[in-house]
Amino acid sequence: MPDCDTTEVVVVGRGMFGSAAARHLSQGGVDVIAIGPDVFDPDHGSATIDEHDVFSSHNDEARLTRLQDRDEAWAQVTARALRDYQALEDASGVDFHHDVGCLIASRPVGDGRNPDPIAHLRERGIIHEYFGSGDRTWAGRWPRLDFPATHGVAFEPSPAGYIRPKRLIAAQETLTRRNGGTLLTDTVTGVHRLGAGAGFEIVTAAGRHVRSSKVVLAAGAFTNFNGLIETPVDLELKTEVVVLGEVTPADTDELARYPTVKYLNDGDVLDAIYMTPPVRYPDGRSYVKMGANTCLDTNPADLATAQRWFRTATDDSYLELLQPSLQALWPDVVFTSFRTRPCIVTYTPDRFPLIAEAQPGLVVATGGNGGGAKGSDAWGAMAADLILGS
Ligand SMILES: Cc1cc2nc3c(=O)[nH]c(=O)nc-3n(C[C@H](O)[C@H](O)[C@H](O)COP(=O)(O)OP(=O)(O)OC[C@H]3O[C@@H](n4cnc5c(N)ncnc54)[C@H](O)[C@@H]3O)c2cc1C
Repeated sequence: MPDCDTTEVVVVGRGMFGSAAARHLSQGGVDVIAIGPDVFDPDHGSATIDEHDVFSSHNDEARLTRLQDRDEAWAQVTARALRDYQALEDASGVDFHHDVGCLIASRPVGDGRNPDPIAHLRERGIIHEYFGSGDRTWAGRWPRLDFPATHGVAFEPSPAGYIRPKRLIAAQETLTRRNGGTLLTDTVTGVHRLGAGAGFEIVTAAGRHVRSSKVVLAAGAFTNFNGLIETPVDLELKTEVVVLGEVTPADTDELARYPTVKYLNDGDVLDAIYMTPPVRYPDGRSYVKMGANTCLDTNPADLATAQRWFRTATDDSYLELLQPSLQALWPDVVFTSFRTRPCIVTYTPDRFPLIAEAQPGLVVATGGNGGGAKGSDAWGAMAADLILGS
């Protein structure tokens, strides 16, 4: 038998949920090994696909955060995570939170698919300023933005804004390491149960073998692939494309403190637009990012299709859909370039993250449903609590 590392808990996946789970476990004194590959950057990836390649859903530079959420249960979990951002930044020395606030624009009746998110702000008593349809006084503060006069606009102030997902993971992992946890850069290619009460053997692409009493599977969109789980969990993957509009250095400075945007637009080709102000990307340039569900989205059902989606450049038809809406939101901003990037959203049947014991000693933590980043610290904490109690 090959040499084996042993540990109490292996966390498969060093993404948003996994890095949080590993940090909470290590902070509780649990011996933990977290295993996951480096983040793939679609702009710099190779065109070749290894049979086990996996990708993350946090592969760009900003994720919206706010107290307003899709329902009360989501809002409570997100609020718990938001409350702890500052402590996490202070303890790790890694900044990831930009509290620029969030503008939410919706018709008073929602868009026919989604209810009016501003009603949720009112119902939960979340502090906000409201500007009814036709009241454009908000434009005095954010003159470069535009919304249709049919839409009411609410401003949710700090701590709403955005987080930088890779930096949040770096904060979590700084602390996991400091707590004695181990981080391995590798891809898991099999999780094998060793028999009742005997734990698990985890095998990796690089030929490592790790034995553990328990496993947390936090592999995002790739949970049902690579032999990680005996019985697949009920997940629907959906392709998502974001457009990045490059802004000049002068506009970067001027727009940097503009709020994030959640916008229930009208129209059949885009649904539920979200946007961040200019953020610096690894290529040294600053981009406004906008995303939405589009009429071109598809549902990859197997590993090869999901891999191809991440490795293949998104074609111009996405840009044709997204670019006009981005420009309409910033009527006088001159974007110096545009690019699109692929991602995948992982949905569960009840549209709530799946944090559950799937087999004795194995907890699954996945199903961010397109909104899991902002509360990831709390979702990971739940997975850690659950595995300790299993
Ligand atoms: C375009 C886009 C925009 C979004 N915007 C927002 C937003 O504004 N606000 C918000 O809150 N949420 C947002 N989300 C959702 C959020 O990013 C996800 O909910 C979150 O990333 C889910 O975390 P996760 O840990 O489940 O998955 P991931 O972050 O994808 O992490 C899973 C990790 O598991 C690894 N992995 C997979 N298989 C294996 C394996 N076999 N071995 C080892 N490692 C493996 C992957 O490499 C990955 O790093 C957005 C998602 C997308 C796609």
